[in-house]
Amino acid sequence: MRTTASILHLDLDAFFAAVEQRDKPSLRGKPVIVGGTGGRGVVSTASYEARKYGVGSAMSGREARARCPHAAFLSGRFHAYRATSKAVMQVLRDLSPLVEPLSLDEAFVDLAAAGLPDLDVATVTEVGEQLRARVHDVTGGLTATVGIASSKFLAKVASELDKPDGMTVVPPGTELDLLRPMNVTVIPGVGPATTERLRRAGIHTIADLELVSEDELVRLLGQAHGSGLWQLARAQDHRPVLAERETKSVSVEGTYDNDLTDRRLMEGLLTRQAREVGARMRKNGYSGRTVTIKVRLYDFTTLSRSSTLPSPTDDGGTIGRVARSLLGDLDTTGGVRLLGVGVSGLADWVQEDLFGDEPDADEADEVVLPEPPRRTWPPGADVVHDEMGAGWVWGSGSGVVTVRFETADTPPGPVRSYRADDPALHRYEPPAED
Ligand SMILES: [Mg+2]
Repeated sequence: MRTTASILHLDLDAFFAAVEQRDKPSLRGKPVIVGGTGGRGVVSTASYEARKYGVGSAMSGREARARCPHAAFLSGRFHAYRATSKAVMQVLRDLSPLVEPLSLDEAFVDLAAAGLPDLDVATVTEVGEQLRARVHDVTGGLTATVGIASSKFLAKVASELDKPDGMTVVPPGTELDLLRPMNVTVIPGVGPATTERLRRAGIHTIADLELVSEDELVRLLGQAHGSGLWQLARAQDHRPVLAERETKSVSVEGTYDNDLTDRRLMEGLLTRQAREVGARMRKNGYSGRTVTIKVRLYDFTTLSRSSTLPSPTDDGGTIGRVARSLLGDLDTTGGVRLLGVGVSGLADWVQEDLFGDEPDADEADEVVLPEPPRRTWPPGADVVHDEMGAGWVWGSGSGVVTVRFETADTPPGPVRSYRADDPALHRYEPPAED
């Protein structure tokens, strides 16, 4: 914890839904739900209009439909979310060189590295308001909520307090006054299981938690979790803001147009990527000990898992085996958009292989990605019609697709229906990313 309120946490409000409302004028002010369009899908983001009906993230699409049947259910346009996120992150980097993105719509900014005249509450408050205005400008009207405090923990708690489109600055010295009445669930890592254990011990608020000794918490929750919680209950959080840096590693990843759900296919892709990583390492004379997989889920949550080997390797087969076992610990049932394998902890020498060259035992079958279904019209997708121009899929079925022709820069537009195989109607292809 610092003596100044110099860590800023920015969180875009209902991000995916807000981008949809920006680009689809007819949906502004109306309930919009991104995700949950398929049979077993879950809600990724609900607009504030939909949240009034009790719809929230991770709810099943079926339940969301029951609660808010008149909402627009959209399948999500990640090219638009990525482009918008990029613009926001650039605004943050213009403010301070120390920016730590947590996801597409969330980041920490270290104001102590921003070169401000001072870090008084009045100064950082002004900076926060200017930042929110700038984000509103570059995103074409999206709102963000900001928290500014003396640690990451408090900044994140603060950014939850005045949502949407608000800001909370926690003056240094008042952290515990703010925290004490709050439920223990505001602490990162306190999920349902921990909450239940604490509840049984009569601990509901942070004030309750503060009265429990560290030993007692360790007994209740284990060493790491227990002492971490003991510290956070005292607002003690010394974690620095870490900008992404270049780490010495070799990695390969792929993004997929259609969410992957087949576990064997994912394993096959990891195996192929691991082979490529191994080949690249050998070419550069590297070997490494830490194998990491990166998995981005359908809702854009990005997970990574790593495992460190007893000795360095550059062997694709070994890397692949570790990668597949790491995947085995993750729940990927909702679908996967990105998979990657990397090796870090590199040395520029290779361990002498005492056992000689082993043939690669798990040479996988050639991996074939499923062909994206041709001419599908997911709800919300961008389309272009040869005469009508740009629009989005309002609905489809029985060989008919209905399109509303409007964009961020037009008033609410007209609706027209076409045969699903109408040659004048095209899915919009986003420009390739760098
Ligand atoms: Mg957000």
